Amino acid sequence: MSKINLVIFNKDLRIADNPALFFASQSPFMPIFIEPNNIGAASKAWLYLAITDLNKKLNGNLKIYSGNCEDILAYIHNSCTINEIFINKSYDRQDELIKDFCHTNNILLNQYNSNYLTDPSEILSNNSSSFKLFAPFFKKISKLELKIDLCQQFIKNNLVSINDSLGHDKIRKCSMDWVHKASLWNPTELQAHKRLLNFISTKFNSYDMERDYPSLESTSKLSPYLHFGQINPNQILHHLPHLNSSFFKELIWREFGNYVLYHNPQIVSENLKATFNAFEWENNEIYIKAWMEGKTGFPIVDAGMRELQTGFMHNRVRMITASFLTKNLLTHWKIGERWFWENLFDADLGNNSLNWQWVAGTGIDTMPQFRVFNPLLQAQKFDPECTYIKRYVTELVDVPISNIHNPYTIKNILYQSPIVNHLATKQVYLNKYSQIRKNN
Ligand SMILES: Cc1cc2nc3c(=O)[nH]c(=O)nc-3n(C[C@H](O)[C@H](O)[C@H](O)COP(=O)(O)OP(=O)(O)OC[C@H]3O[C@@H](n4cnc5c(N)ncnc54)[C@H](O)[C@@H]3O)c2cc1C
Repeated sequence: MSKINLVIFNKDLRIADNPALFFASQSPFMPIFIEPNNIGAASKAWLYLAITDLNKKLNGNLKIYSGNCEDILAYIHNSCTINEIFINKSYDRQDELIKDFCHTNNILLNQYNSNYLTDPSEILSNNSSSFKLFAPFFKKISKLELKIDLCQQFIKNNLVSINDSLGHDKIRKCSMDWVHKASLWNPTELQAHKRLLNFISTKFNSYDMERDYPSLESTSKLSPYLHFGQINPNQILHHLPHLNSSFFKELIWREFGNYVLYHNPQIVSENLKATFNAFEWENNEIYIKAWMEGKTGFPIVDAGMRELQTGFMHNRVRMITASFLTKNLLTHWKIGERWFWENLFDADLGNNSLNWQWVAGTGIDTMPQFRVFNPLLQAQKFDPECTYIKRYVTELVDVPISNIHNPYTIKNILYQSPIVNHLATKQVYLNKYSQIRKNN
């Protein structure tokens, strides 16, 4: 076979505004996808459906490979001789492996920044170091002229595929239960755009006022589509009426998640604040199980943990449940991070680690350590009528709102009484925290 261009899909499972696909398609090209090996069950199901959608648009020519990236590329190069490789950067290990392969084999690598608004290597503070805080990072981004012109469609006629025994046409070994849950979202490129347009026409103007109320469904729910690149932030900005909005700020939090991961890869496993290495987490298994199952006796926490079983959780409730696990149940943030990783369709290494460390107070730019979310006050403020709580904690449907807001008074044999006392455990947390501060 003559020389071909190779497009390697990763976090860019779309055909629109895809520069790697567009430029590769100027001559005969083959699209491939390499299955990630570290992926949670929920996101794997999303991936399965997203890849199926993408493959249809590529006339069934997408080849999916499992295994070691260098071996796969060497195998393809051997079968058909790669001319050039094209990728949209995901800023992950796979990018590095592809770069090394191209270097060793003298193959031209064409890389584009199309999954994020900014390239993390290019955003530095005045003293040329990376930003440690969101506020100055946001300020810097706000001053940039962001590119919002869109790339043209690829040339379909140049698609080719090789017949080999390694490549397959579907993601393997998915949980069918999760595939069913993911299919309710319709994880396609078209649906991502429909969702965006619906959000802009019906929710964008009230987003600032309503985004913290989980019962209102007033956020975009674009996060899984964004994570897998079925839509990119560039396409979102193209449609936004203006950038002066909290919605734009949230998109920049997503940039910051990728940025912090790029500059501090240890964020996935280590406390970014080393003081916390001495913190004595209790990691009580009974409490952890109750938290995971949504049976803590704190209605807003339980509602959130049960919503998570659908593959998603509202941002405000993610903060409440994460604070409860770390600061009331005194559990290491990594345990919660892994549970979210397994159960979220939008599970994202940068965003998940950044946000868990933000809530736990162990990260670089964090909620103040002394601030411990009070799940009772949070419920009163953000779910005053208990609409969200009753949607997921169905045992409480007939319980008066005043009791739900003071769960120590709920007399319902079907519902767990609170497993801890908020104020008492908060105090234990604060004492432990002041201890590590004294010793450092
Ligand atoms: C403990 C914890 C864990 C989290 N884990 C993840 C995760 O694994 N993946 C993930 O995408 N988000 C994560 N988030 C951030 C946030 O909760 C979700 O991005 C948001 O709930 C997605 O809903 P949405 O698309 O309706 O958001 P919208 O409010 O519509 O926001 C638009 C987009 O901005 C981005 N965004 C919004 N909030 C944040 C944020 N705080 N940090 C980073 N990006 C943000 C998302 O891409 C989102 O789709 C986490 C938050 C917490 C507190």
